[in-house]
Amino acid sequence: MLDYGERMSQSRNPDVSIGCPQCDATVSASVPPGPGIADTDLGETNRLQGKETRCRNCGHELELYYY
Ligand SMILES: [Zn+2]
Repeated sequence: MLDYGERMSQSRNPDVSIGCPQCDATVSASVPPGPGIADTDLGETNRLQGKETRCRNCGHELELYYY
């Protein structure tokens, strides 16, 4: 029996909503489907990907990180 441990289980919804730290507006950004957590044939290559987005309300730049 292999024990894979538990990974964060995220839905496949590509849209993430985050709150702007400056104006509290909700910023939604669509995250492109990456290698994700579906199949980890590559073993330990869990890449953290980032994406920059901008608050539509105040223009504050936000960075999203996702797997
Ligand atoms: Zn903002």
